[in-house]
Order: sequence, then C-alpha cells, then structure tokens
Amino acid sequence: MVLFEKAPAKINLSLDVLGKRDDGFHEVEMIMTSIDLADRVELHPLDEDCIEVSADNQYVPNDERNLAYKAAFAFKNKYHINRGVRIDIEKNIPVSAGLGGGSSDAAAVLRGLNRMWSVGATLAELAELGGAIGSDVPFCIYSKTALATGHGEILRDIAPPPQCYVVLAKPNIGVSTRIIFQHVHAEELIHPNTQRIIRAMEENDFTKLCENVGNALESVTFSLFPTVQRIKEKMVRAGTTGVLMSGSGPTVVGLVEHYSKAKRIYNGLRGFCEEVYIVQLLDRR
Ligand code: ATP
Repeated sequence: MVLFEKAPAKINLSLDVLGKRDDGFHEVEMIMTSIDLADRVELHPLDEDCIEVSADNQYVPNDERNLAYKAAFAFKNKYHINRGVRIDIEKNIPVSAGLGGGSSDAAAVLRGLNRMWSVGATLAELAELGGAIGSDVPFCIYSKTALATGHGEILRDIAPPPQCYVVLAKPNIGVSTRIIFQHVHAEELIHPNTQRIIRAMEENDFTKLCENVGNALESVTFSLFPTVQRIKEKMVRAGTTGVLMSGSGPTVVGLVEHYSKAKRIYNGLRGFCEEVYIVQLLDRR
C-alpha cells in the first residue's frame, strides 16, 4: 500500500545564538512554527531490503545524502526492519532557503515508515531518532510552535502566533547554514528578546509580536548576501510590521494581519524577488 505524508516548511519567529560549545556546535535559542507550504512525500513498500529516493528538484540529491534516505536508514536500523522502501518527494519548499525542507522530509519519512510498518513508536521516540539526522528534524516531527534550544533539538511547546498571513520572499540564491555559522562572531550579533516574543504569543498580541521578532544571523547573512538585506528593507518599506530572515536565510518572512495587505506586499515584491509566496500558519489559534 502506497502511503503519503505532508512535510510542511517551518519559519523562525526568532533565532538567537547564545555561544559556541567545546564540541564546535553553536548553542541556539529559536522560536519556530510550521506553515502550509509543504513537500509531498510518497512511500512505496518494497520487498527487497533497500532504500530508493527520488526528488523532483535538481538541487536535491537522489542518493544516501538525501535526508529522507538517512531517515529511512536510521528507522530500519533502529527497528530491525529488513524490508525496503521507495521514497518519492515532490519538492514544493525552496531548497537551502532557511525553511527546513530537508528536515521536514526526513521527519515525514520517520512518521510514514512508523505507520507503514506498524512499529508503534511514539512521536517522542521518532523525534529522538530524528535528532541524529538533523537539528531541525525533532521540531518537524511535531510541526507545531516550539522554543528550540541546544542545537535546536531540545523542544518546549509554546503558544501559537496570533492569526496572520505570512509573506515569504526568497532570492535566487541558496545559503548553506554551515557557512553562515562559520562566519558568526558572537560579539557582533544583535540578540532578539525571545521571552518577549513568547509572551506576545501567549497574550495573542500581534503588534507586540511584530515589534520583537528577530534573527541574530541576519547581520552575518546580509554581509555575505546583500540582496537578502535589500529584500528585508523592501518588505519594511511596503509597510510590513514584523519582518525577519528565516533560519540562516535567504528567505525573508513578513507577518501581515490581513490578506488584502499581504497581497499588496506580494505584488510589490514579485519581479523584484525570484520566489514570493503568501502562506498561512499551520498551528492556529
Ligand atoms: P538548513 O537550515 O537545515 O540548512 P534549509 O531549509 O536551509 O535547512 P534544506 O532545503 O533543508 O535547507 O537543504 C539543505 C541542504 O540539504 C541542501 O544542500 C540539499 O541539497 C540537502 N538535502 C538533502 N536532502 C534534502 C531534501 N530531502 N530536501 C532538500 N534538501 C535536501
């Protein structure tokens, strides 16, 4: 029986870098929530003990480097499964965009294989398994709103954002998270006030949320890719109140209360920017 899983993208409402650990990892503190822009992951059971993966995007590898492949490999290993799977991925989430597409595909594979092979693992067990594949995979297992700490794998549920529309603008460049972190100089970062953002969401206060969203990696990505800064400035000039870069970029996120305004901002950005979307939050009030 063929099985489908939706793999939604995430956006950051905050990203802070707290310091560098002895093992070289950066300690982060991030607020993330899922949006209704999603890849479609199709799982076909195979009798032979093998994993095949194919994605309809030239920037995504169709082999063991694919995070979906890694997820299937880890799952089979952990639960001693000697059957196989073919994974077909319809990519709708832009690649290397700061939207967590690869992590979400991996999470979808873990959820899907758990169903396909009736393993009965809990979401917490899948999240733990996913943490070894990528820092954002545990978040993507749940796809809600969370505060993520550690290197992104320690999660705490928090209140979802107020009802709003999200404008996404992505220039035609891919940004490697690894390279951005290599250029981080802790003393130069501007830190968002994470607690204030959490409180704004608890109070369902859209204005307060927009005033406080922020991403400490913006200065790093902006200096390497000035076009990302220009997109942010254009969104702000268009009257978007809450604007920040998602992840390590290059996608810029704008929070907008009403659809008509989101559409106006969307129209203003098209032509100026390669890919523009209006999406909604998945974790709604
Ligand atoms: P991150 O912040 O984790 O880098 P991102 O959203 O910026 O996430 P992704 O779209 O997840 O970036 O892709 C990052 C890299 O992972 C790319 O180099 C891509 O080739 C590779 N990759 C491996 N598997 C996948 C997948 N299933 N979908 C997208 N990219 C994948």
